Amino acid sequence: MSRLPLMPVEDAIDRLLTMAEAQWIEDSEAVLLSAARQRVLANDLLATLDLPPWPNSAMDGYALNVDGWDGAPLAVSQQVFAGQAPEALAPGTCARIFTGAPVPPGANAVEMQENTEVLEDGRIRFHQPLTVGTNIRPQGQENRAGEVLLRAGKRLGPFELAVAAAQGCTHVQVVRRPRVALLSTGNELVEPGTPLKPGSIYNSNRTLLSHWLSALGCDVIDAGVLPDEPRQTRLQLEQLQHAADLILTTGGVSAGDADCLGQVLRECGKPLLWKLSIKPGKPLTVGHFGSVPVIGLPGNPTSALVTFGLLARPYLLRIQGVEDVEPLSFPVSVGFPWPKAGSRREYLRVKLQAGRAELYPNQSSGVLLGASWADGLLEIPEDCTLQVGDTARFIPFSELF
Ligand code: AMP
Ligand code: MG
Repeated sequence: MSRLPLMPVEDAIDRLLTMAEAQWIEDSEAVLLSAARQRVLANDLLATLDLPPWPNSAMDGYALNVDGWDGAPLAVSQQVFAGQAPEALAPGTCARIFTGAPVPPGANAVEMQENTEVLEDGRIRFHQPLTVGTNIRPQGQENRAGEVLLRAGKRLGPFELAVAAAQGCTHVQVVRRPRVALLSTGNELVEPGTPLKPGSIYNSNRTLLSHWLSALGCDVIDAGVLPDEPRQTRLQLEQLQHAADLILTTGGVSAGDADCLGQVLRECGKPLLWKLSIKPGKPLTVGHFGSVPVIGLPGNPTSALVTFGLLARPYLLRIQGVEDVEPLSFPVSVGFPWPKAGSRREYLRVKLQAGRAELYPNQSSGVLLGASWADGLLEIPEDCTLQVGDTARFIPFSELF
């Protein structure tokens, strides 16, 4: 029996990114710094200030002018605390100065107090010669007014928001949140809080994905649970198509009789990809329904998790204009043998212990707990076997949020 080749993961990511570039979100809004975490900058952030705005002291000590100074003790002519504006330094004197205080005009070095001594007459003796600039943080050391500090497309975390705060910004201009309609499919699904009927299970994908979508800056439209029934599936997609930038579904994309979501997308929509060389997550289905993109994740919780993290996440970042969507990853040494090569690329839930990747004992795609135990995913390429001590690519889960 001949099998169609499965699409390699990279090709699927490329297709998703191409699709994302056609759906780019152009609207933006000004958002308070306190609410801007995880959002994406819509315009370059330009500095309006030199930082620091004036030369300031890096130490508690004494500011002086070392040009022509012979090392003799100096009288203290003023004190400058952080937050004060100093006077020009009187010639032949020094200024008591504290960390962060502006250096008085005319001073060109600061000696830390530990290297000085206060004489009985109040003058300061310096223990060593000093060079120009010692312990002074020059004006504009970090940036000059007019410089681009952060490029459009930058995801905003605590560091970037602090950079904006240092310029005095109260708001940043960010890309509108993508609106994602989240739809779970499956006759068996019941929401937590409702009694379980025979044959039913609680819906966990909805909780997994709504949190993850929020962490990626998205607005979640909770579209509830859809039964495995083609007509209702089509009607629901029709209803959602104008409300969302993306319809994200779980379940119903395998080749079984009850897998309606995939069927409807292939029959009434424009399919873009189906069946990837990935384990877990092979049935991932992507396409358009009308004008709205649909990403159909497989229903097994770990399949949903892996395909969302590796494929839907870059899509959702790219529609917001993020350039760098590839998660940081690095090679790690493998702490277990992998004797049987697989035909699909496999992503194992592993924990790093003593510098080696250790395997969660149950790698079934239905087992969600392994993801919570693990630190990330270990990528085993197609047709690859490994021995203990070989290396493989590790993607920390922390990178995928
Ligand atoms: P499917 O992809 O629809 O064939 O579902 C594969 C497996 O995942 C089945 O065992 C489903 O019961 C389970 N599953 C599907 N959707 C969910 C969900 N939202 N939460 C938890 N398990 C699910
Ligand atoms: Mg199903």
